[in-house]
Formats: sequence, structure tokens, C-alpha cells
Amino acid sequence: MSTVGYIYPCPQCGAHLSGPFNGCAACGYSFGHLVAPTSPEAQNKMADHKQLLTRGTISLGGKPESNASFDYYGVANLTDLVRFTITYGHRSQVSSGPGRTPSDVIAAFVPEIIGSGVSRYTTDYQPCSGLCIISPASTKWGHPFPVLDKWVTSKFAGQTASCFRCGDPTPFAQPVCPKCYGELGNDWRNCL
Ligand SMILES: [Zn+2]
Ligand SMILES: [Zn+2]
Repeated sequence: MSTVGYIYPCPQCGAHLSGPFNGCAACGYSFGHLVAPTSPEAQNKMADHKQLLTRGTISLGGKPESNASFDYYGVANLTDLVRFTITYGHRSQVSSGPGRTPSDVIAAFVPEIIGSGVSRYTTDYQPCSGLCIISPASTKWGHPFPVLDKWVTSKFAGQTASCFRCGDPTPFAQPVCPKCYGELGNDWRNCL
């Protein structure tokens, strides 16, 4: 599928990349640590985001607002979801608390459900179709997690972005506009 002309930055060195992400030739950055974390810190975070599969439930787990877990589809497709997000996702930063350095994030919704989430405001599980990668360049902290629409809307309020294919404005973390998704067969994997 044509992605000619679309350029995005390497999460580690900022080099201009084109085509579906498979690693950065300039700095050697790859995405393996995001799919299968190697540090204990990132492994714990990933375990938290698989609790629906391992424990059969999702809890807030001490988080103030919401928490989300991958479902089977999300886990089975994690490599491609991470590649899709690095390639087409929108870049921003989130604060992890007062006085702490903001962390880089890349977020992208796909037109499929990849997990479920709970929030302080609802008692039932809400579907997640967004992936967020936090600290993508960090082998210690970097990990992907599924996100609720509500989380994205509140974290990135007022930030807009554009469709990677036609350049039309889109909501933050929506990398493809509805018209272009239709022309791509409504399948995010056709972009890889
Ligand atoms: Zn690089
Ligand atoms: Zn478009």
C-alpha cells in the first residue's frame, strides 16, 4: 500500500524515516523491547496491561483515572500494532507527575478493538481501540498499552493532527481519516 511521501521521525534519533517502520538505519533503533520488554520495570508494566488475559479481570490497580488491558487480539497483533503506531501515530508528551520530566508518547487508534479498560466513572469494561507507546526510546521504561478514547481525549485535549495519507486534519491519535481508511480497505494492516 502506498505511503509515498510520508515522513516520520525515528523515536530515538529523530532521523527522517519513510515506509512502514522496521528499524532505524541511522541509529540502530528497533522496537523489540516494546513488544517483549527486557527490563524488570517494563516487564511489570506489560504484565499490568495483560491482566485481562492472565487474571481474567481488570482493576484500577492504584491508577487514579483508568486502566486498560490488551485482549487476545491485541496481544496477538502487538508487533504490528507497535510498528503501525511508530510509523503513523501522533507524537506528544505526557506528564508523569509534578516535577518529573514529561515522557514522550506516540499514540494511534486502529479500527478494531485491541483491549478493554476500566475507569473510575464506569463499572463495566469499555472497549479500547487505541495504542499508546510511552518512552519509546527507553529500553528501561518503554512499553505499549491500550488506551480508552476518554483517556486520549482528556490527555491530549486541544491537540489536533492530520491524516498521514491526505493531510486532512484529524483528531489526535487518529492517523488516518475515514475517507482514506475506506480506500485502504478499512484495514490498518494494509498500511504495513
Ligand atoms: Zn534512529
Ligand atoms: Zn485522509
